Amino acid sequence: RAKQEGRNRVRFFSAEIEDVLKAHLTMTRQIRAGLEDHEFEVHYQPKLDVRKKIVVGVEALVRWRNQDGQLVSPAYFIPAAEQTGLIIPLGKFVLKQACLDGKKWHQMGYSLRIAVNVSVVQMMEGAFIATLREIVDETQIDPRFIEIEITESILAGDATKAQTILEAIREVGATVAIDDFGTGYSSLTYLKSFPVDVLKIDQSFVRDMMVDRSDAGIVEAIVQMAKSLSLRLVAEGVETRDQADTLLGLGCDIMQGYLFARPMPASQIDEFLTKNND
Ligand code: C2E
Ligand code: MG
Ligand code: MG
Ligand code: MG
Repeated sequence: RAKQEGRNRVRFFSAEIEDVLKAHLTMTRQIRAGLEDHEFEVHYQPKLDVRKKIVVGVEALVRWRNQDGQLVSPAYFIPAAEQTGLIIPLGKFVLKQACLDGKKWHQMGYSLRIAVNVSVVQMMEGAFIATLREIVDETQIDPRFIEIEITESILAGDATKAQTILEAIREVGATVAIDDFGTGYSSLTYLKSFPVDVLKIDQSFVRDMMVDRSDAGIVEAIVQMAKSLSLRLVAEGVETRDQADTLLGLGCDIMQGYLFARPMPASQIDEFLTKNND
């Protein structure tokens, strides 16, 4: 009986694994088809200088419009895209589109920084810098306005290689932001020696800052750290006036969050800029 149960259990688990593999395969096929059929689009969320009350940048956030016309969250497909390597063509599409839209806003007279999320796998892949150069050439965007957002996990892997790539990004003329800062592997030594320009305070600290003393303390420490290392600061996930006022009080002026604007299609950014910056 035990033997039979054991066999059943084995079968049960392999069926489960089979389901996972099938789902993964389906997802892979769907992402590949989605890329071919131009189902991905890039939305943008404004970053504001809250003291000056102007938009100083936007973050490009990819969206997938499925066959039913519904928008799919990146939380659902980015991990699969990373695992299958499809993040490379997808990431290239986002970077190119963001530079095209950014160039257009620059031509309209707005000096906006264009932030683009880049996965660690995408950045560590051999052709990343060549792709970045190629896109800058093709779109004629001023590379000083490109901000590459990466997470701290870049520091946990091959640090020497990461440093080389970050330096190459600088050579192209673009800047580097550490996204979700404070949630991952933060080494002060790396921060000092890596070519990093911006720290983005993770939204979890911003959210809990008003209710949890230790989160408030973390935010204060990040602000101080950014000041002593001469790094720019952006707070993300700002949803309430109280949070914005507290951040201003601490010396963090650049903010992004639903309080000011949600991510939106490029055409709506045009209107937002006219209303806000003109
Ligand atoms: P992220 O880079 O940290 O982006 C910020 C996320 O917070 C976005 O979610 C944004 O819509 C959301 N957000 C902004 N303000 C608020 C707020 O006030 N409250 C709350 N609750 N959320 C806010 P989104 O667009 O769903 O993206 C999720 C994550 O997916 C991003 O986190 C990023 O890690 C990844 N991602 C998005 N686009 C790309 C991309 O083109 N390439 C790569 N590699 N990753 C991407
Ligand atoms: Mg980001
Ligand atoms: Mg973030
Ligand atoms: Mg995130």
